[in-house]
Amino acid sequence: MRCDHCAQEAPDGVFCTRCGAHQGTTKESGDAKSREHRYAAHPGEHVAHPAIFTTLFPHLGHNKIHEFRWAFIAGLAGVLILYVAGLITAAILVSAFLVPVLYLIYLYEAQVYRDEPALVLGFTIGGGVVVGIVVTLFERLIYNPFQYAPNPLTGAGVGIGAVLILGLVIPLIQEALKPIPAFFLPNRADFPETVDGLVFGVAAGLGFSVAETLIGFSTTLASLPAHVAPGNWIFDLATLAVFQPLLQGSATGLIVATIWRFRRGRLAGRELGGVAVALLAHIAFAAGTVVMKNSSTNPLFILIWQATVDGVLLIYIRYLLHYSLLEEAAHMGFAETVCPNCHMHIVASGFCPNCGMALSAVPGAVRRSRKPRAEPAAPVSNVK
Ligand SMILES: [Zn+2]
Ligand SMILES: [Zn+2]
Repeated sequence: MRCDHCAQEAPDGVFCTRCGAHQGTTKESGDAKSREHRYAAHPGEHVAHPAIFTTLFPHLGHNKIHEFRWAFIAGLAGVLILYVAGLITAAILVSAFLVPVLYLIYLYEAQVYRDEPALVLGFTIGGGVVVGIVVTLFERLIYNPFQYAPNPLTGAGVGIGAVLILGLVIPLIQEALKPIPAFFLPNRADFPETVDGLVFGVAAGLGFSVAETLIGFSTTLASLPAHVAPGNWIFDLATLAVFQPLLQGSATGLIVATIWRFRRGRLAGRELGGVAVALLAHIAFAAGTVVMKNSSTNPLFILIWQATVDGVLLIYIRYLLHYSLLEEAAHMGFAETVCPNCHMHIVASGFCPNCGMALSAVPGAVRRSRKPRAEPAAPVSNVK
């Protein structure tokens, strides 16, 4: 068939394997070429769907997404049990490591690093930890929350100067420094796609998050008896286990994805908007949290605010990634492969003709198993 949108010859299918456009007249809403109702990394979802795993773990297929989701829920249940039992120190430690450890497992699972695991993991997660240690120690020199309040997350008693430091200066310093490890990855030329940059940035941000939490809570961890009354810790634990790592990972993922786009010679409104969204989201998250704690707002509202900011970041990442994938997957050669999303045997170039998944966002093992085929694909077996 000839694609309605790019006019290239492509095997029959619901989606053009070259440009990813939806073919024919569709009852589904929206523009068939940009197909925002079919997110390129996970075609079962709309682009504007604030999901954690299909956004920050873009290489995972259907089944693996469920495994990670369950592991995450199990981890949160573990934090809750420790909290109820009054083992707050242990609950803080599990919270700090939950999302970063899941991400480490994901990097192995998807083999995003291809042949260089030590180098890539060292420069992303490891580099993030180092930056986290340096930046957090520096922050404690310029601002020590323990002078003001017994709990490092409560801003009780802070004035306008403290709000400016915690809500503006520190977020900007962090966002300027967190992308550095991924930026200096020595073999970055082997990872040209924006989806790689996104994953490296998220990994660096999560490495940073671990170091930040452990140093930020070091005094608490050392001074707290092993067993205390649970009290109000549940709100801080929710921030530590979910919203803080999501913010740190997403913001840096968005910024490093933009750096990758810039390397490809693309720096338009969508990319610059990504940097602005990352910075504003971090400022909104930090400043909002400090101000609300200062005015002793119901802690549930603080969590809702943090969740909203994270949701906006996730949707922007999907938007940037969707259009990057539509553009970048278009240059892959024809090959025989199995689609990790719909599990069909396909002869395809950049996109699965059946479900529209971008084949540049597949796990390393699937990518290596592609069997190259000559250009004009023979009549295809994938359409039933
Ligand atoms: Zn096309
Ligand atoms: Zn498919």
